[in-house]
Amino acid sequence: MGRMLTALLIVLGILWVLLPPTVLMGQNQDLQTEQKACCQAVPSVATANAMSPETAYESSIHPIADNIETEMRQFSWRPGCPVAISDLRLIRLTYWGFDSAVHTGELVVHESIASEVSRIFGELFAIRFPFFSMKRIEAFSGDDDASMNANNTSAFNCRVIKGRKTYSRHAYGLAIDINPVQNPYDNGTTVSPPSGQSYLSRSSEIMGMITAQGPVVSIFYKYGWKWGGAWKRTKDYQHFERYL
Ligand SMILES: [Zn+2]
Repeated sequence: MGRMLTALLIVLGILWVLLPPTVLMGQNQDLQTEQKACCQAVPSVATANAMSPETAYESSIHPIADNIETEMRQFSWRPGCPVAISDLRLIRLTYWGFDSAVHTGELVVHESIASEVSRIFGELFAIRFPFFSMKRIEAFSGDDDASMNANNTSAFNCRVIKGRKTYSRHAYGLAIDINPVQNPYDNGTTVSPPSGQSYLSRSSEIMGMITAQGPVVSIFYKYGWKWGGAWKRTKDYQHFERYL
């Protein structure tokens, strides 16, 4: 028994001397390789984070999908509206919220201005102009008052101008309302939404407010848009519209 053990130890000793270390250390080598792979990947991840990909503006333009068309036919479009649904486009875009975070919003506009609107909102993103909410009007059953009360930014809605029988530019997909609470409609007797009453003074810099001298108006003007805040009698500070 003692001799067998001695022989075994001798064989093991010879193997230890003869075999290359890679065979004996195989497992450790693999571990080292894994560690290398792990730690080499770290700098590239760190670089990606440093570039803050979440701060890049993203926008895409889509024809109106069947499920959205169904909602629109229910709430915001009906036969006789001055634009066909096939001439409208859905823009999905990123925007800065009042919470200083990036969100994704949706706007429906006329096909002819879709890429222009995408660029305008890219410029608004670059200056970090904040939006409280940006949902399609169908989220409010097509009810403009409900959308305004929710301080929602929206574009297309086949509706007439308040107090008139003529279609609003929104009915053509050629108008956008921005942060209605901070930028209310005011005709001298009515303020819409009612919570906009406290924002009729336009002198101070308030989050989400559009002022005559501010960057939002100058960006829209650059692209040939008109602003409701510049109208003489009725003021519609939330409203921008485009004539082609
Ligand atoms: Zn409007």
